[in-house]
Amino acid sequence: MEYKNVKTAIIGGGAAGLACAVQCASKLGYGSTLIIERQARTGRKLLATGNGRCNLSNRHLSSEHYYGDKAIIRSVLSGFGSEDVEKFFGSMGLLFRDDSEGRVYPYSNQASTVLDCMRLKCEKLGVEELCDFKIKTIRKSGGFFLIESETFSVKAQYVVFATGSRASSLLGANDSGYRMLEKFGIRSTPLFPALSPVSAKEKYKNLKGVRAKGSVTLTADKETIKKRFGEIQFTDNGLSGICVFEISRFVNEFFMLGKISGKPYQKISISVDVMSDFSYQELCAYLFRCKRIFSDGKASDLLSAALNRKLAQSVAQYCSLASKKCTALSDNDIKKLAYAAKNFVFTPVVTDSYQSAQVSAGGISSQYVNPETLMSKSIENLFIIGELLDVDGDCGGYNLHFAFGSAAVPVKSMK
Ligand SMILES: Cc1cc2nc3c(=O)[nH]c(=O)nc-3n(C[C@H](O)[C@H](O)[C@H](O)COP(=O)(O)OP(=O)(O)OC[C@H]3O[C@@H](n4cnc5c(N)ncnc54)[C@H](O)[C@@H]3O)c2cc1C
Repeated sequence: MEYKNVKTAIIGGGAAGLACAVQCASKLGYGSTLIIERQARTGRKLLATGNGRCNLSNRHLSSEHYYGDKAIIRSVLSGFGSEDVEKFFGSMGLLFRDDSEGRVYPYSNQASTVLDCMRLKCEKLGVEELCDFKIKTIRKSGGFFLIESETFSVKAQYVVFATGSRASSLLGANDSGYRMLEKFGIRSTPLFPALSPVSAKEKYKNLKGVRAKGSVTLTADKETIKKRFGEIQFTDNGLSGICVFEISRFVNEFFMLGKISGKPYQKISISVDVMSDFSYQELCAYLFRCKRIFSDGKASDLLSAALNRKLAQSVAQYCSLASKKCTALSDNDIKKLAYAAKNFVFTPVVTDSYQSAQVSAGGISSQYVNPETLMSKSIENLFIIGELLDVDGDCGGYNLHFAFGSAAVPVKSMK
């Protein structure tokens, strides 16, 4: 069996693991740090981020964009702002570009540039990557961690868990990190997918692929939980798009726990407003005008000059007016149509959305790690970073920012 003795072993070569390796090796010296990666290459998920462009941070960073363990969020963000991401990657030569919503991308607009910067830096610092490494056992003995596969054994003074979550299983993600941590008595809070499409009971097959600007509002027992604006994408079995992604964590939390942010609810629904630039009264006035313009047509024609035709038809179908002739529409029907365009309701249903989710909510909380050091409270020199922790963020670079920020923490405790 091959054998390696290092100061720090990082388990998982994703966004957090690679960033942590750079910082550990910079402080502890050449050859001090090793990455253990289960897949054939490090950084596979990183390459898929931001549609291959890698939205690595956001200028409007604040704890409001994060959910989960408040103590960990506060600690990580206070030590790592968006200027720190720039400093960290800037030291590797990376240039940046921001978009109008504060999202930060590499200037190349390519995720591979971000990955290459970190891998090159790791190489220079003598960080060894052990890829295709299937961990069989991991234990602590005599003050050292022993990590073994069938053929290889690693002995390390410090171990950093950076194995990420199950989100996006098609990219090889799994929950093995949580299972390894359980062997050390470290348990996660309930896990559920976040930033995912939402499946709905109502099926509008003709809407597949239609996109519209508008708002989505998640309601639980008549209480508004979250409202988001943006581009809504209709799929053959529900809703997608960034604004839908951002309410999905609450939908999935409801299905997982019957609660949202700790409060129990019975029923949830999503109301889509496809005419969000107009008030209900303005829309009614517009549709009354359209009734004269489209006098020979059907109810769905009234919205067809404002919306994608398939969407106009589906809204009319939703309020049971699809086949009614314009001449037969009462004033009340017109108001019903206006109301439906602003309250097109979908009922979420449970699906296994881990395949398409970008992140997982839940994880290791401050019950088990010290938020200031991210070291286990019970196992000395065992650190946990990245998505394994009980923190998830909105779309817009917040999740990678957290991964990089948390990666900067453990090295402060290493000598
Ligand atoms: C399609 C997609 C697009 C995204 N786009 C963005 C974006 O633009 N901006 C943003 O902020 N966030 C984005 N995210 C979220 C972001 O990618 C994650 O939050 C981030 O990668 C988490 O970093 P991590 O290092 O904790 O986990 P990961 O990046 O998932 O890395 C974990 C690593 O550990 C390895 N591993 C797992 N188990 C083991 C094991 N047992 N032994 C050894 N190695 C193991 C994995 O193979 C992987 O390489 C996106 C996610 C997806 C899926």
